[in-house]
Amino acid sequence: MSAIPSPLITRFAPSPTGHLHIGGARSALFCWAFAKSMARVHNIDGRFMIRIEDTDQARSSEESARGILDDLAWLGICWDDGPSLTTTHGQTIGGDSRKVGPYFQAQRVAIYNAYLEHLVRLGRAYPAFETTEELDAKRKAATAAKQTYKYARPEDVKFGEFNQARWARAQAGERHVIRFAMPDTAIVVHDQILGDVTSAAGEVDDFVIRKADGFPTYHFAVVIDDELMGVTHVMRAQEHLSNTPKHVAMQQALTRLVDDRSAASGSNGTSFRTPAYGHMPLIFNADGTKMSKRDKAKAARKALKDAMAKDKALTAAAIGTRVNLPEKTITDFLAAETDAVEIAETVAPHFNVLLPEIEIWDFRRSGYLPEVITNFIALLGWSTGMKQADGKDVEKFDMAFLAQHFSIDRIGKTSAKFDRVKLASFNADAIQAMTDEQFWTRWTAWLTEFTPDVAEKLKSFAHADRQPARHALVQAIKPRAKTLSEGHRSIGFALIADDAVTFDPAAVDKALRGVAQPADKAMPPSGKTGVDVLRALRTVLAAQTDYSPAAIDGLIPGFATEHKLAMGSVAQPLRVALTGSTVSPGVGHCCAILGKAGTLARIDRCLSIHTGN
Ligand code: GLU
Repeated sequence: MSAIPSPLITRFAPSPTGHLHIGGARSALFCWAFAKSMARVHNIDGRFMIRIEDTDQARSSEESARGILDDLAWLGICWDDGPSLTTTHGQTIGGDSRKVGPYFQAQRVAIYNAYLEHLVRLGRAYPAFETTEELDAKRKAATAAKQTYKYARPEDVKFGEFNQARWARAQAGERHVIRFAMPDTAIVVHDQILGDVTSAAGEVDDFVIRKADGFPTYHFAVVIDDELMGVTHVMRAQEHLSNTPKHVAMQQALTRLVDDRSAASGSNGTSFRTPAYGHMPLIFNADGTKMSKRDKAKAARKALKDAMAKDKALTAAAIGTRVNLPEKTITDFLAAETDAVEIAETVAPHFNVLLPEIEIWDFRRSGYLPEVITNFIALLGWSTGMKQADGKDVEKFDMAFLAQHFSIDRIGKTSAKFDRVKLASFNADAIQAMTDEQFWTRWTAWLTEFTPDVAEKLKSFAHADRQPARHALVQAIKPRAKTLSEGHRSIGFALIADDAVTFDPAAVDKALRGVAQPADKAMPPSGKTGVDVLRALRTVLAAQTDYSPAAIDGLIPGFATEHKLAMGSVAQPLRVALTGSTVSPGVGHCCAILGKAGTLARIDRCLSIHTGN
């Protein structure tokens, strides 16, 4: 790398047309990590900036922009420059200390227009008046002749000469677009990851830089903003590589205006810089397909088709009625005419299908930890190059490590695989590494956001005098939890009042009315029912003062031996009495979670319901 600029500025420039995609988060993370690690290594000002690319008015929304910023903040990827965001913890991120905003492109249209006029006067852009129908006809003719369609520059347009006549027509209000006049030379992109990438002369035609609606295209706005905002390093996904020659050609054609906001002020002659480019590998699913929002539609479509194959009465119309969508929407979705995420998400709960997590919001909702996501996505196309003592690669690290050790030369050229099993195991490991109190805090914060009713029911466990019960609750969940979203399903029994337990009839038949098994199959039948066992066990539990899981679990074997019963025949009646079912955390944990009073109250209620006394 040549001289290191200071400030060194990277940027993430999302289009606010939906949630933050995992690939976008990876781009943001690499840009952030690169700026921070360069700052540390070279003792310079390394800054990470966010710009919102909302010039596609029809597809952009403020809500999406806010969601993207919020997801970045949740991940801990904080920007130095860009839209201001105050987090729920009161931290303010972003701002315009360098005075290069606004950071929403829709608010910069006057700037783009000044540069468009400038480029037109330089003879490097021109208004074009062809109608959509004319262009479509040419495109069709090219396809019919088995040729690649390219826009042919009109004969009256001369490269490098201001076309006064066309400009006057445009100024008079005639519908037009503005096209960039591509030079007839090869363009070489010096990519920091891929090496030199050459686009041959004539490969790119004169592309549109301002649409008929008056908004610049992505290509134009990005070039103007990267220059005016002082961006020194552009790191983005490889899918943008084919755009870069267009951007470089515009940078070579453009000079800075004296006053960036007015074409009339003229140029000061300073050429636009070409930032250092780095195009990052794409992210693929385990099956080799590109990881995209479409995966949700694919999963939902498959579930619908499977359900239709099983049940012939399930027509598109019937599905539409069930999910409250028009039949035509369902037919189009089934025929893959649309991959709309909204349809997939509407259909999913009705057909019990879990959609794959693709966007950061999905992972958030599924109970993944932000520090695990950033760790995991850092490994999508980058590696530490370090070994642990056991010879394996160093793969677990935090943001501070990344800010210290990230380097562009360890970004790979080939596509990265998104291994969901590995992500789940990273998440489970991080959960296991938490103390019980840390888990409690983070778990309840997740519940408050995603299942507030459960969070509300758990509030009483936060009291100081319920510390032992809280401890037991965490112990019942944490060891098996891969995500924060799983736990509450197994402790439903603890969220209801003692007199609200409903009993599963099969569990009652088997564990309470059924005969208790002897400790050894060779022994004679015990002659006792589960209810008899439960009644005897109640006496022992009533005399017990230590209600820790270990103490309760310690009682069971002694009781079983004394009464010559199988352990299961002791634990199951108790479990059914406390939870209403035969599936729950261990009985020691159940008793500890409910406490002595709750445990005895539930046993008494169960005995009274199932024996009538
Ligand atoms: N708005 C573009 C996108 O979301 C940004 C591309 C770039 O980084 O230049 O893909």
